[in-house]
Amino acid sequence: MIKVQSFTFNPFAENTFVLHDESKEAIIIDPGCYDESEKKELAAYIETMGLKPVKLINTHTHIDHILGNNFVSGKYKLELWMHKDDEQLLKAVSVYGQTWGINCEPSPDPSHFLNEGDVLHFGNSELKVLFTPGHSPGSISFYSVEDRFVIAGDVLFQGSIGRTDLPGGDYDQLIESIKTKLLTLGDDVIVYCGHGPETKIGNERRHNPFLTGAWSQ
Ligand SMILES: [Zn+2]
Repeated sequence: MIKVQSFTFNPFAENTFVLHDESKEAIIIDPGCYDESEKKELAAYIETMGLKPVKLINTHTHIDHILGNNFVSGKYKLELWMHKDDEQLLKAVSVYGQTWGINCEPSPDPSHFLNEGDVLHFGNSELKVLFTPGHSPGSISFYSVEDRFVIAGDVLFQGSIGRTDLPGGDYDQLIESIKTKLLTLGDDVIVYCGHGPETKIGNERRHNPFLTGAWSQ
C-alpha cells in the first residue's frame, strides 16, 4: 500500500509528493522546496517517518517543479528520472527563473529517461509511466494500478487543465493526453495534481469544463 504525502511549496504553490510503502523506501516527485523552511519541512517528514528516498522524479521540468531538485539530489544522493522531451526546458530553467526574479539552484542532469509503458519500482510497489504531453513536451504521469491513484503533474487539475501558453505547450495535445491516458483509468482513480487539491477521474469526466465541452478553445 502506497502512502502519498503532499507538500505545497514555493511562490507558485506547487505540490511536491513523497510516496512510500511498508518497506520505507520512498520516491520524491517534483520537489519544489525553495527556501530553508521548506527544505527543512521536507527533510523532517522523511526523517520522522524513517524513510529511505531512492528516486528523484520530475513529472515535467517547469521551474516550480524542480526548484528543490538540487537540494534533494544532494541530500539523499539521488539521480534524476524524467522524460527526455523535457530536457530542453530543464536546461533553460535558470534563465527563466531570472525573469521571475527567482534564484534557481542548478538541477542535476537526468540520469534516467522514462517513457510510456515503463514501470517505476520502489520498495514493494510499482507505478506505470504514462506519457501525457501538452502542458510541456515531456510531461509524464504515474499511475498506481493497485492503489488507484495517478500523480498527474500539471496535466489535469480539479475543474481545470494545465496551461499551454508556455514554450512547448500544445492545447490539442493536452486534451488528447487527458482523454486517452487519464480518463481511461477509471472513475474511482484519485488524481494528485501539481497545483490545488486532489480530485477523482470521474469528477473531472463529469464536471471539468475543458472535458465536457462546456469550454473549448
Ligand atoms: Zn508546469
